[in-house]
Amino acid sequence: MEILVPDEYKYLYERNNERPIWKIPDPVLRKVAPPIANIDKKMLEFIERMVLAMKKANGVGLAAPQMGKSLRIIVIAPAGMKPTVLINPEIMESHGAAVGLEGCLSIPGLYGDVERPDRVVVEAYDRKGKPVAYEMEGLPARVVQHEVDHLNGILFTDKADPASLHWVHPDKADTPVE
Ligand code: ZN
Repeated sequence: MEILVPDEYKYLYERNNERPIWKIPDPVLRKVAPPIANIDKKMLEFIERMVLAMKKANGVGLAAPQMGKSLRIIVIAPAGMKPTVLINPEIMESHGAAVGLEGCLSIPGLYGDVERPDRVVVEAYDRKGKPVAYEMEGLPARVVQHEVDHLNGILFTDKADPASLHWVHPDKADTPVE
């Protein structure tokens, strides 16, 4: 489905110092990102920029393709959780199902209901290259699945109930954006 951005939201789709995140229809958002083989200094600096961009945009998650790089790195920070960097994240288990409202920093202003598993087990590496595993439920589980989708070129609008998609100016919305 093609997303038609209303005129009054179009300025949100320009990329500049104020809004450094890549937006649709940039093709980087549709690529499958290759896994990371080693974490060097340049990559750690890039990860720092991701964390800062996510905080600046009041996001609860961000994936490397949203910063223009097709790499398997995500940062998640749902309420109550400090920013957590996951490299080569893989969802090993998923259970249950829940519908929740989602928004995306790469599609500013658009929100919709997405059904996803409610509990997941994620394995990844941290920025030191150490293997980590998390069991997540509720919002953190939703955020991590939204971000892993970004690494596979999938946007929440691909999975959302089309009838639920609606526009709200990001300044007026209180939906977590990822
Ligand atoms: Zn997103």
